[in-house]
Amino acid sequence: MADIAIAGAGVMGRLLAWQLARNGHRVRVVDPAPDPCAPGAAAFTAAGMLSPLAEQAHAEPEVADLGWRSLRLWPLIAQALGQPGLVKTEGSLLLAHGSDVGTAQRALARMDDGPEPLNRAALQMLEPALAPDLKAWWLPGEGQLMPRELLVALARASPGVDWLWGRRATAVQPHLIALDDGTELDADVVIDTRGLGAKPDLPPLRGVRGEILWLHAPGVALHRPVRLLHPRHRVYLVPRPGDVIVVGASEVESEDRSPVSLRSAVELMAAAHSALPALAEARIVHMDTHLRPALPDHRPCLIHEPGLLRINGLFRHGWLLAPALAEQALQHV
Ligand SMILES: Cc1cc2nc3c(=O)[nH]c(=O)nc-3n(C[C@H](O)[C@H](O)[C@H](O)COP(=O)(O)OP(=O)(O)OC[C@H]3O[C@@H](n4cnc5c(N)ncnc54)[C@H](O)[C@@H]3O)c2cc1C
Repeated sequence: MADIAIAGAGVMGRLLAWQLARNGHRVRVVDPAPDPCAPGAAAFTAAGMLSPLAEQAHAEPEVADLGWRSLRLWPLIAQALGQPGLVKTEGSLLLAHGSDVGTAQRALARMDDGPEPLNRAALQMLEPALAPDLKAWWLPGEGQLMPRELLVALARASPGVDWLWGRRATAVQPHLIALDDGTELDADVVIDTRGLGAKPDLPPLRGVRGEILWLHAPGVALHRPVRLLHPRHRVYLVPRPGDVIVVGASEVESEDRSPVSLRSAVELMAAAHSALPALAEARIVHMDTHLRPALPDHRPCLIHEPGLLRINGLFRHGWLLAPALAEQALQHV
């Protein structure tokens, strides 16, 4: 049994803590969030799309490979947490307006075999509320999950883990995490999953601003995540329980975490409304901004040295990549 100390309780930190505790290790986790439900991590803001195919439009093939592995693992994790309904892998749709088909074709050209064009009747059968003149492609096997619920479930299902909420790591080194109250945690292995908080130790790391909106749209049926291919925006709509549709997300080269800008809100909502006209009377119930931790090559990194493991750079894909990266990390531990 090893003694493991983890800095950062986002998706990566919680998943590792849960897995390591299940494997019989002693685990302590430090995070400045006051409690497991407080939305400190970027993972709380995420839409929860699991899109290895669609993300190929602007990600390396490695991301898709890890993503497909995670897509097999997430349902097993949700099952083990006793909440199988938090993960769905029932496919998603790519959409484009007729005038944007050129943009769509360029994105589709970067994807492996998979996207199947759908005719109008097939689209209407799958998603009758979508604008009928949209071009559509079916992405089999893609999925979605419920980020907030999974983050809380992972923390609650890990009773053997010692969660040090409300504490910030001031130094993360091999075998040692120093805390803001002057105490230190010694461990056989330290794992750094602080996301953007690890910037002092990973200088090329940067935050990429993402903005997201939640709409309450009773009676507007959307059965699966859909993504609109658009020359200027990457807009997706993700149905959630309680008649909520999440619309996301902007991608802005900025580390500004101030509230959603008017331009992003207008553009995201205009694009969403153009795909799903019934959203006209939806109510905007929540807006959120967070920073995606990104490295210059936009790939995840797993850096290992004796007594220390750093996992970072999850960028747009943290939920998509976390289980596959956790699997790799566990081999090092
Ligand atoms: C708008 C938006 C939409 C997104 N949508 C998706 C999506 O649909 N699908 C997908 O796969 N990904 C999505 N993402 C990306 C995903 O959220 C990130 O890739 C993921 O959260 C990164 O996980 P992480 O665990 O590395 O970092 P985080 O989730 O940010 O967690 C880092 C944790 O470290 C803690 N921390 C920071 N500093 C310290 C410190 N000094 N000491 C201790 N703890 C510290 C923080 O409080 C936080 O809890 C989205 C992101 C955004 C912003």
